[in-house]
Amino acid sequence: MIIDTHAHLYYDDLLNNIDTILEQAIAAGVERIIVPAVDMATSRTILELSSKHKMIFAAIGVHPCDVNKIKIDDFTELRDLLKHDKVVAVGETGLDYYWDKSNIKIQKQIFRKQIELALENKLPVVIHTRDSIKDAIEIIGEMKCPELKGQFHCFSGDEKDLECILRFDDFYVSFCGNITYKKYEGREVIEAVPPERLLAETDSPFLPPEPFRGKKNQPAWIVKSLEKIAELKKIDPVNLADLIHNNTISLFYKLI
Ligand SMILES: [Zn+2]
Repeated sequence: MIIDTHAHLYYDDLLNNIDTILEQAIAAGVERIIVPAVDMATSRTILELSSKHKMIFAAIGVHPCDVNKIKIDDFTELRDLLKHDKVVAVGETGLDYYWDKSNIKIQKQIFRKQIELALENKLPVVIHTRDSIKDAIEIIGEMKCPELKGQFHCFSGDEKDLECILRFDDFYVSFCGNITYKKYEGREVIEAVPPERLLAETDSPFLPPEPFRGKKNQPAWIVKSLEKIAELKKIDPVNLADLIHNNTISLFYKLI
């Protein structure tokens, strides 16, 4: 019973083969998939996908790399879409200083705004960071209240960042297929994450695990990252999968 908490199934290579992709996921033991939006158009597409496929759930919101296209009206629409039964989170939101540093102020505003929306709708936030984790942690720290919960997806911070996140109750981290690469440098960080704060994800179609490098990633291959995490943490893979499953259901409670 695996839940892929982060797969962008609306990219052409995946969407054009969606039935096969989902069949392969089921065969690998994946029972649910959360598809995160990056903007308004993808938010709408995911809701359509989620009504066609029982196993697909939605996180909707605006990615930090897409904040320049957002309009005031979009927040009104976002507010409406968040009421949908299959929306389990707000996201992906966050901060990205790798691709664009010129709009940091806007990125922070839109991030805060989406945290407010999450609180308003009693939903967790899915957080993306790239070269920006300290600022993202600072904003969560300022806005943290018992109701605010979330996931730092594709976690790439160091052990200090992890310590800060672990101080926030109900915040989780997840890792992608790049943890299987020879050159991956975060092994100590994975070892340091308490299993009760771990989630699983693929970030499909990006970051395919070994031995699928160079291909478009897909939810079925989540088992490769889970195997790697179990190996690094010296936990029985079945126990690890159970723990992660419970964490996932407790954070994304609308998945049930
Ligand atoms: Zn993503």
